[in-house]
Amino acid sequence: MDLQGQVGVRMIELEALHKISYGLYIVSAGDKLMGNGFIANTFFQITSSPPQFAASCNKNNFTVKLIESSGAFAVSVLGQNTSSDLIGKFGYQSGQNIDKLAGMLIKYGMTGVPIVQNESLAFFECKLLKTIDMGTHNIYIGELIQSGMLSAVGEPLTYAYYHSVKKGSAPKNAPTYIDPLLLKSNSTANTGFKKYRCSVCGYIYDEEKGDPSSGIAAGTLFKDLPKDKNCPTCSADWEDFVEVTV
Ligand code: FE
Repeated sequence: MDLQGQVGVRMIELEALHKISYGLYIVSAGDKLMGNGFIANTFFQITSSPPQFAASCNKNNFTVKLIESSGAFAVSVLGQNTSSDLIGKFGYQSGQNIDKLAGMLIKYGMTGVPIVQNESLAFFECKLLKTIDMGTHNIYIGELIQSGMLSAVGEPLTYAYYHSVKKGSAPKNAPTYIDPLLLKSNSTANTGFKKYRCSVCGYIYDEEKGDPSSGIAAGTLFKDLPKDKNCPTCSADWEDFVEVTV
């Protein structure tokens, strides 16, 4: 049963889930011949002695196979100003279709895993200790073998900032994914304005609200959106948007 189906039974208020604090990270694995990474928000420290960490990964992610074959994973802490291009590539595209690491600034860890340095503040490299099967996702528990700073300046990107300022939503493979149409704030309320959904990342453009953080004024109709701008979350073209009909 999915989250929507559980609402009536378990009294789950979906907006409450956005009050949980998370960071945003790139989890990567593999080696020089075959490497990949994806954006995760569920990465956290479990113990300090020894330093052990956990990351939750959808089983459909291409990186999962690489974590298991390399027996290690790396995590890059994204900075607050991370571009939508990078989030679009690592959060909404699959390594089965593109080489996400091509053209990126990569260094290789002690285990040989690729570590993404672009737009990141710090990195962690973990040796895989244990895998916990949680149905749709695996939780990978690793022991830290290396960490370091990638930038001396900048604040880490939090999920709250990504959600409230960048208007981003969790990819469908994320453990914290919520269909944006289920949230109360997406009610159309007879304003005459329409809403359009990015078919790549799920971002919803609301004509009534516009997207001031992207320089799009409230009341800007979808057909009038500037051609030199793209989806504020994943950089998809406006042609990838479909009108929300419910
Ligand atoms: Fe998008």
